[in-house]
Amino acid sequence: MATLYDDFTEYFEAAAQYSELNPRLLEQVKTCNNVYQMSFPVENDDGEIEVIEAYRAQHSHHRLPTKGGIRYSTMVDADEVRGLAALMTFKCAIVDVPFGGAKGGVCIDPYQRSPEFVERVTRRLVIELNRHQFIGPAIDVPAPDYGTSAREMAWIADTYRTLNPHDINHFACVTGKPLSLHGIPGRREATGLGVFHGIINCLADARAGHDLSPGLDGKRVIVQGLGNVGYHAARELSDHGARIVGIAEHDAGLYDPNGLDMEAIARHRWEHGGIGNFPAGQVFANSLETLEQSCDILVPAALEHQITVDNADRIRAGIIAEAANAPTTPDADRILRERGITLIPDLYLNAGGVTVSYFEWIKNLSHVSFDRMLTGTADMQNRRILDTMQAITGSAVPLQERAMLERGPTEIDIVHNSLAKTMGESYQRISDLRSERDLPDLRTAAYLYSLELVAQSYLELGLFP
Ligand code: NAD
Repeated sequence: MATLYDDFTEYFEAAAQYSELNPRLLEQVKTCNNVYQMSFPVENDDGEIEVIEAYRAQHSHHRLPTKGGIRYSTMVDADEVRGLAALMTFKCAIVDVPFGGAKGGVCIDPYQRSPEFVERVTRRLVIELNRHQFIGPAIDVPAPDYGTSAREMAWIADTYRTLNPHDINHFACVTGKPLSLHGIPGRREATGLGVFHGIINCLADARAGHDLSPGLDGKRVIVQGLGNVGYHAARELSDHGARIVGIAEHDAGLYDPNGLDMEAIARHRWEHGGIGNFPAGQVFANSLETLEQSCDILVPAALEHQITVDNADRIRAGIIAEAANAPTTPDADRILRERGITLIPDLYLNAGGVTVSYFEWIKNLSHVSFDRMLTGTADMQNRRILDTMQAITGSAVPLQERAMLERGPTEIDIVHNSLAKTMGESYQRISDLRSERDLPDLRTAAYLYSLELVAQSYLELGLFP
């Protein structure tokens, strides 16, 4: 069976055909630089020693640090992290974030293990990474991914800090940390929020190839995976007028063309570990069947290889919004394109997480929050404008409105606005390139745009003789 790295290679080569750059340079740009494979012993809750397998891949060092999430899953292997690290390199290039790509994986099922065991594994992992120079604010900076969250990032930051007490920038060794531990507001929902912006941008793009109208009002959405990315994407889409008609989770799927109560289902999932016995709509014991139900926008936000040759013919959506990494295999991608279904590629669509991680890293390095320097100045400017308006018109703005208009942006305002702007500009670049170079789809455009940018950096830095 083709691996995630094979998928990446196929997509990369399909896009590289349209480039006139030196093929050997492109070969270098495609190749994954390092994969560090670790095995380390950890005591389980029964007092027995288990040997844990883990990986960290650094795909490209044309920009430093390298950056990418750490996933906890029993399906993790070297090929998977290599492929995901490669995606990170090109994802960062698309959203103009100056990092090389990396990815990590630990072979455990966090949902079946105690928090104490997961903590022991996480802290032991950091010791291994630190020993081999695979973590550090200037070297390699992990973040949350499938099966990990702010909790694991807090353990990572704390362990790194203990091991490196003289590194004044220790908190920049990992992003996606809790707010209380020098995280940034907006990081938790950043990937899902970015997915929302990406979908809005594509709906508004008359050149994208779908026949859906701009805006979300009344659009029917199916989401696979109500985890970090899927939950926040679904919430944002539904808050802006979309109807969530289908939800697929690991144990079952639910579908109701009249709309599902997404918040209630998310609560049920957390309380009961699944959604199979939630009393709503049609229930699919085979969760994957949910993806085949009729909708306008299908959002796979769980795992890779969910849309394959086995089900691509039966997908009934206008747009597939790849919130997860690599949810569509290249063979399925071809079928969907022939069927006129528009795909918004993972490379662009889920880049909101790394964008806000970049803001968090900058904040940790500068040791000051974004609003601390800005808010006072913005308040003053707003006051001056209001005073001038009052002097010209002779009428005062009511006190309550004045207080609201005077207030400068908070840190969350800055993060959300910068994310929306980044997703908008990046979409425009890809869509423009697709039209200018007459490319078959948005994925090819996203790959071509980013591989040429990374290749350019290699040349500028003299990394390619
Ligand atoms: P998560 O662990 O928070 O959530 C994953 C969800 O998928 C869980 O609710 C899980 O129960 C569900 N799930 C598992 N198997 C399933 C199945 N067979 N069918 C349906 N649902 C299933 O993970 P996440 O962070 O939301 O990541 C999801 C995807 O998004 C991954 O591909 C990840 O690489 C990608 N991604 C995540 C981020 C991020 O910031 N977290 C950033 C970029 C990309």
